[in-house]
Amino acid sequence: MSEAPILSVRNLKTYFDVTKGIFSKKQIVKAVDDVSFDIMPNETFGLVGESGCGKTTLGRTIVKLYNPAGGTITYNGENIAQLKGAELKKYRKDVQMIFQDPYASLNPRMTVGEIIKEPMIIHDIYNSDTEREERVVELLKIVGLKPDHIRRYPAEFSGGQRQRIGIARALAVDPKFIVCDEPISALDVSIQAQVVNLLDQIQHDLGLSYLFIAHDLSMVKHISDRIGVMYLGHMVEMGPSNDVYHRPLHPYTTALLSAIPIPDPNVAKGKRRIVLEGEIPSPINPPAGCPFSTRCQQATNRCQTERPEPIAVGNRLVACHLYEK
Ligand code: SF4
Repeated sequence: MSEAPILSVRNLKTYFDVTKGIFSKKQIVKAVDDVSFDIMPNETFGLVGESGCGKTTLGRTIVKLYNPAGGTITYNGENIAQLKGAELKKYRKDVQMIFQDPYASLNPRMTVGEIIKEPMIIHDIYNSDTEREERVVELLKIVGLKPDHIRRYPAEFSGGQRQRIGIARALAVDPKFIVCDEPISALDVSIQAQVVNLLDQIQHDLGLSYLFIAHDLSMVKHISDRIGVMYLGHMVEMGPSNDVYHRPLHPYTTALLSAIPIPDPNVAKGKRRIVLEGEIPSPINPPAGCPFSTRCQQATNRCQTERPEPIAVGNRLVACHLYEK
């Protein structure tokens, strides 16, 4: 890939001050801690990890719902922290988000047409309501809904259909980059593949770039060109989707993959399941060394005290002392 990234994240830190009272000890949640990666034009970068690993906070920092405590996010060569006025408005138009919960993310008092038109009005991109309405009808067709759904309310739709409305709303302002924040987690398994296929199709047709956040590595693999694995606010492994999925290097990635159920009992029989014991440590008080050291079956004394830096192993980056020469 010789072209420039559409999005570059460098040493990003998103911290939250959760100190309870003015006389209490300061407590800082390090939700995202020193994360770096690039996303190329037309690329889907999958981001996986258990709940609480920081992946949603990372997505929200990229769309500027949270301010970073450190590091930079560069979009098309511009540091987004320095964007102001028209440039900031363009960034907010170019970079959209699809939310996890299709029930909570749509205003129940607005019709589908009003929901999809709202971002067009905010960004002032069509001259008349007739033009906006025509675009809504086109978008409904793109996401597999019918033009007459325009006058209906969210409560009249299934979860999968509501997520299609959320996708149409994100597409309403012709974005270039979409943060898909667990867009399938709240859906029935039978519907999940349909929504993933729809997002995949839209990406190819419209030439979009995605940050696709999920906790299910098997689903992320289908849509992603590359995958990043997060644990306790850190990126622990990153590389081409097939390689990470079929030949994981980091002990945490290996454990995540071993937990995915295999439908074929003969294949499942020969597979060793790694049970991750214990909870993810608190991001207020993370382990001093490797963040995974409290649950890793291969941890050594060094892992308790020394944090591994991401190093290149073939076409991958892995943060684990096992791969240091
Ligand atoms: Fe496990 Fe040590 Fe590697 Fe961390 S650095 S993943 S504790 S072996």
